[in-house]
Amino acid sequence: MALIVQKYGGTSMGSIDRIKNVAKRIKRWHDNGHQVVVVVSAMSGETNRLIDLAHQISKTPNPREYDQLVSTGEQVSIALLSMAIEELGIEARSFTGRQVAIRTDDAYNKARIQDIDETPIRSELDAGKVVVVAGFQGINAEGNVTTLGRGGSDTTGVALAAALNADECQIYTDVDGVYTTDPRVTSKARKLSKITFEEMLEMASLGSKVLQIRAVEFAGKYQVPLRVLSSFDDSLDGQFDDHFRQTVGTLITVDEGDSMEQPVISGIAFNRDEAKIVVRGVPDNPGVASAILTPISDANIEIDMILQNLSTKGTTDFSFTVNRTDFDKAMQILNDDVKGDINAQEVHGDSDVVKVSLVGVGMRSHAGVASRMFQVLAENNINIQMISTSEIKISVLIGEGHLEKAVKALHTAFGLDRTDGDSKVAGV
Ligand code: ADP
Ligand code: ASP
Ligand code: MG
Repeated sequence: MALIVQKYGGTSMGSIDRIKNVAKRIKRWHDNGHQVVVVVSAMSGETNRLIDLAHQISKTPNPREYDQLVSTGEQVSIALLSMAIEELGIEARSFTGRQVAIRTDDAYNKARIQDIDETPIRSELDAGKVVVVAGFQGINAEGNVTTLGRGGSDTTGVALAAALNADECQIYTDVDGVYTTDPRVTSKARKLSKITFEEMLEMASLGSKVLQIRAVEFAGKYQVPLRVLSSFDDSLDGQFDDHFRQTVGTLITVDEGDSMEQPVISGIAFNRDEAKIVVRGVPDNPGVASAILTPISDANIEIDMILQNLSTKGTTDFSFTVNRTDFDKAMQILNDDVKGDINAQEVHGDSDVVKVSLVGVGMRSHAGVASRMFQVLAENNINIQMISTSEIKISVLIGEGHLEKAVKALHTAFGLDRTDGDSKVAGV
């Protein structure tokens, strides 16, 4: 008998029929003697709908009220799923973040979980019930509702699994595992049976939204066995045996020896949320980089890639990228507060850019990955606007229109393509 935390995302909870189907799956696990804690997201589209409502009222909604609003989608889901489970003759009990309690810091909209009181959950489990917990939400020290950032239900799942010392945290989603790249971009993407935490963390932070970054961080820190698997394939439900553990979905593992079959590159991530800003014709004096970037970070805007061109005739161009949601704000700060102060000629913005990254622990011991990457992009006539590297990744910024071509070409060039025909990911 195992204690399993299962998380079902928005698509899996997208309609009453799908919710009933999730209930049936949980029943199979429960009938096989397992204790099940279920974390659910809002029904698909619901969080976006709520955010849109807020923005119809204010461009910059009060963060407390924003969280009060956007957390409600999950409350609907837990109640509906608990009812559906009870219809199948199993007792279920729903909990909001506050009822658990999932305590977070004060950072509304992107709060971090600090502590979970697992005792109420454990006593319901011991009474034979299924526990259903609202993802994406917690409470701060003042008792206000906080949310954990988009995709945050993954983190709720992993944090609960850590607090309960669960045998596994299972993230059920609309693809059947973690792929070499988003299977929606190329049908040649290959499902990985295992990936290391370190690689998964890079993939997530470089834009692969299959798992929220903090969920991966949490799982690595607390050594939570984490699996991504399909919410459409129920063939092995309830059978938590070796066959299940070895074959279903993708396991995120600590062991580098378990890194994918591929020694050099394990996956390709991309991020469409980038925007590039170029401050042109800046007098090349000491302190200029700080004069440009300090007001940006003071406004809580994260800077990603940075590039400073060689100085010609005493001036230089300084470029960097920010998240697209911060683009307008950053442009405004530069135009209003910085440009005049540093005597720059022009501030130019471009939001039609994407970042494409190769990820793999094998890069540590293999030279030549970058040059091969640049060669492939050149052969495909794709201009590189910026580059950044770390030990296990290389990222390039390119025009958004080239995204699909770049990912497909790199996927083939680095030997990631599946060899058994095209993928048949449900819904793709
Ligand atoms: P959920 O609503 O279940 O949380 P998400 O939309 O957040 O689902 O995450 C699943 C999606 O992640 C997939 O539909 C897929 O398009 C995308 N994705 C991006 N990169 C990858 C990858 N490397 N492997 C699998 N899925 C990926
Ligand atoms: N419903 C939230 C979102 O759409 C949280 C989640 O789905 O994980 O971001
Ligand atoms: Mg998600």
